[in-house]
Amino acid sequence: MTAHSGTFAANRRTFLAAAAAAAIAPTSAALLGANTAAAASGGLPNYAPIPAEAFGPALNANGYFVGRIDNNLYWVTDSFYQAMFLTTRTGVVLVDAPPTIGHNLLRAIEAVTRDNGRPSKITHLVYSHSHADHIGASSLLGPDVVRIGHRETRRLLLRDNDPNRPAPSVTFDEKYVLEVGGEQLQLAYHGPNHSPDNIFIYAPEQQTLMVVDVVFPGWVPFKGLAVSQDIPGWVRAQNVAMGYAWQTLVGGHLGRLGTRADGELQQHYVADLDASARTTLANLDPTPFFQKYGPTGNAWAIFKAYLDAASQQTADPVVAKYTGRLAAADVFTFDSAYVLLESLRIDAGVLGPFGDHP
Ligand SMILES: [Zn+2]
Repeated sequence: MTAHSGTFAANRRTFLAAAAAAAIAPTSAALLGANTAAAASGGLPNYAPIPAEAFGPALNANGYFVGRIDNNLYWVTDSFYQAMFLTTRTGVVLVDAPPTIGHNLLRAIEAVTRDNGRPSKITHLVYSHSHADHIGASSLLGPDVVRIGHRETRRLLLRDNDPNRPAPSVTFDEKYVLEVGGEQLQLAYHGPNHSPDNIFIYAPEQQTLMVVDVVFPGWVPFKGLAVSQDIPGWVRAQNVAMGYAWQTLVGGHLGRLGTRADGELQQHYVADLDASARTTLANLDPTPFFQKYGPTGNAWAIFKAYLDAASQQTADPVVAKYTGRLAAADVFTFDSAYVLLESLRIDAGVLGPFGDHP
């Protein structure tokens, strides 16, 4: 481990302790705000306090929380990432292996199976998608676990050739029902969204849906609508998720589980962002940007200045509306406005001032 990553690990533990304290005592969220103000003396921006309801349960001394969702289905979090597992009569089925949770996945599974008397051996590992931040601890499980994922996940992992992420040996195209030791998960592919291979993992008995990097309970989506590779597909994936009969959602990120109200709130947030982006494309006057950069022939500066201004105009009313309702609305809405504007331009053909037919 380098000195740099050691420092990061120490800082992350400090942050986790602060987040856990805020989760226990909502009033300490104000203290987090004060800490942010202190950091601003180093030139970093201030952000609105995180609403108490955005935090999940407190972490234990090892830096994780494990909880039962319903009967044999459990979830694990380190407050940044989440995994889910089923304890069955014949072994454990794990969904995702985020490297930030790492060995704590094994500790969590040991603790749960010690209590419920089921075998602790992980026999199956389901990949939600190929991204290293969600499955980069796969190699900890050794060569014998049966890895299951979408056919595209296998293709991407063979391409990436990362020893931490062995490609799945069992793949599917549309649907796959995984039955292990009296328990069931229903895997389904509904097209590209956050990534080309992102799947939906439904536990029917527990009315629980795991879909990663699509719905962010209590928080706005990660930067750029979750750095999604297919924005219309990602927007639609929210609706696909809501079409399942779940009561509990495992979103793969942050510190708590999701409710249907969380899913609906995010749909409203994205719909508001979309409406604001369309209004901006229709009425933001590009004249000043052409006047400033046109004479120098700097076409990219015109685009950058216009898109920066458009992102700001798109984000402003949405940030105002959702601050206090969705955590970090003031952190990532600007970047998400940008990718939504770009998607409207290049996917939907809503080209704004750059779409006139001469
Ligand atoms: Zn991802």
